[in-house]
Amino acid sequence: MPRLPSVFISHGSPMHALEPGALGASWVALAKTLPRPKAILVASAHWEAEFPTLTGAAHPDTVHDFYGFPEPLYRLRYPAPGSPELAMRVRDLLNQLGDRAGIDGTRGFDHGAWSQLLHMYPEADIPVVQISVQTGLGAAHHIDLGRKLAPLRDEGVLVMGSGNLTHNLREAFSAMRGGAPVSPLPYVREFQQWVQVALEAGDAQALADYRQRAPNAVRAHPSDEHFLPLHVAFGAGGAEAARAERVYEDVELAALAMDTWVFH
Ligand code: ZN
Repeated sequence: MPRLPSVFISHGSPMHALEPGALGASWVALAKTLPRPKAILVASAHWEAEFPTLTGAAHPDTVHDFYGFPEPLYRLRYPAPGSPELAMRVRDLLNQLGDRAGIDGTRGFDHGAWSQLLHMYPEADIPVVQISVQTGLGAAHHIDLGRKLAPLRDEGVLVMGSGNLTHNLREAFSAMRGGAPVSPLPYVREFQQWVQVALEAGDAQALADYRQRAPNAVRAHPSDEHFLPLHVAFGAGGAEAARAERVYEDVELAALAMDTWVFH
C-alpha cells in the first residue's frame, strides 16, 4: 500500500458541483495523480463541533447545506458509502492520543465533502468519513489533529481538508452583485503568497500563529473555519516534514482564493 499524500481543497461555491469549470477539471486531474485511496477522511469547514467528531453512518445522506441556489443543485446526490470501521479507528486513535473524539451516527455528507468528491471520484465507490473542525480551538490544535491522523496515510486513507484559502464572503457577494468581471483584491494575493511561503518552508509555527503574523489574516478569514482544514491537511502531511505542492491557484469573485495544495 503506497503512502498517500494529504490534500487541501478550496471548495468555493456549491455551484462548482454543477458547473465545475477549470476548478472542477483540476479536481479530476488531481484524483488521477493520486494512488487510489481505500477510504477518504474529509475535514470540512461546514462541520464545526466542540470536539473531533466522525460520521459513523454506513450510508450517509447527501446534505444540501446551503440556501437560494438553483433547484438542480438540490437534486445532486453523492451516494458513496460511509465506513463505520474507519470512524471507530479514527476515534480510537485520537482518544489514545488524548483527545475526546466521538461519532455521530446519523450525520450525512455536507457540500464541503461532496462538491469536489463527485468530480474526483464520480463512481462514488470509495468510502467517505467526515471529521469536524473545532473552530474555537484555533490553528495549532488543527495542525496537531492532522499530525495524529498522519498514520492513516499508510493505511490507504486519503486525508483531505476542505475549506477555502481565503473566505471573506461579504466581499465575494458584493463582487457578485456588481456583475462585471472583477480582479482579485490585492490583499487576497498578499495573503495567498504568505501562505505559499509558509507552506513551502514547512513553517508550522507561522501557520499556527497566522492570525497575528499573516498580512490581512482577519480580513481574509473573518472567522477561520474555512482555513483550519488547511492546517489539518498540513499536519497530516507531516507538517515540517511535508513537501508542499500547489497544484491549482486562482481567485474567484475578487475575494475567494481557490488554491489546492498537496502535502507529500
Ligand atoms: Zn464552504
